[in-house]
Amino acid sequence: MADVTALDARAKGKLAEQMVPVAAALACAVRDMDSGGIGELLAGFTRQEFYGLAVVLAGMVPVDEPVTGLLGWVTWDERMRPLRERRRQVHVRSVPLQPCGTHAAFVRHRSNDERPCDACSGAEKAYQKQQSDARTAARESAA
Ligand SMILES: [Zn+2]
Repeated sequence: MADVTALDARAKGKLAEQMVPVAAALACAVRDMDSGGIGELLAGFTRQEFYGLAVVLAGMVPVDEPVTGLLGWVTWDERMRPLRERRRQVHVRSVPLQPCGTHAAFVRHRSNDERPCDACSGAEKAYQKQQSDARTAARESAA
């Protein structure tokens, strides 16, 4: 199976669309603590599909929410014992948002329905060129 980075934009989009319902079902299965259901749901996926699933799941995460809020629904530990309030406070250093002038910031502008700033537009142009060059190199090495 070809590397995901070698897929063209259309194929990546199709892969992402295919993984959206899987991501939604997986989120429900994880919340229901249905490990059998999780196993069934994930059985048979290719590495490429797992990559697509990871990207879709990451895309569904509201990055402006603190991690403690995102995991606030977890009220038990790995042995199914109820968490004490103190342990529920997940101590995770939140990852700072990427500054303007990066692909991530460009994507953030777009997802916020903002016009990307000049620094982000330039960074995105360079990023897309790099991605295109990588795809070309992958195609040439596969040929
Ligand atoms: Zn910007």
